[in-house]
Amino acid sequence: MFQLQSEKELLNSFRSRDRKAVEAPKGTRFPLFVRDYLAWVDPYGVRVFLVFQTPGTQRPIGIAFRRDQQGDKTLTSRLCEWCHSNGTADQIGLLTTDLDAKRRVGVNLCRDLRCGERLESEANRAGRDALDDAKMLLGKMERFASEGLAIEMGPKK
Ligand SMILES: [Zn+2]
Repeated sequence: MFQLQSEKELLNSFRSRDRKAVEAPKGTRFPLFVRDYLAWVDPYGVRVFLVFQTPGTQRPIGIAFRRDQQGDKTLTSRLCEWCHSNGTADQIGLLTTDLDAKRRVGVNLCRDLRCGERLESEANRAGRDALDDAKMLLGKMERFASEGLAIEMGPKK
């Protein structure tokens, strides 16, 4: 659980290169209390945004993804690398984000990033503790941010 005091704090969780593309979800009221993470799709369906915080990151981390592989209607089942849900290309696809000015990194994920809800209902069905799954999911987000994107953790200077 973490808290976002203002829209500014929400925007500041993103890297400066991403910030101009970010629009806070419509109707968001601050302060905003976030249980595990916040994910929302922009009004055009082009981008999906993620804001999360872990004990390791010490501050909210925002990532702006592009949903590049839109309209791919192949029926092959795909796997989300974060929550391991299976789905069609409509549900799971390559989300990419800038690594720097020249390079992008991509990862196959639920296109709406509602991995947490899927893990939770899966855990409930299996009689498992959903908390462990949420922790695992946040750990994957943290690893992607730190190792995949080299985002600096800890308080902002
Ligand atoms: Zn997922």
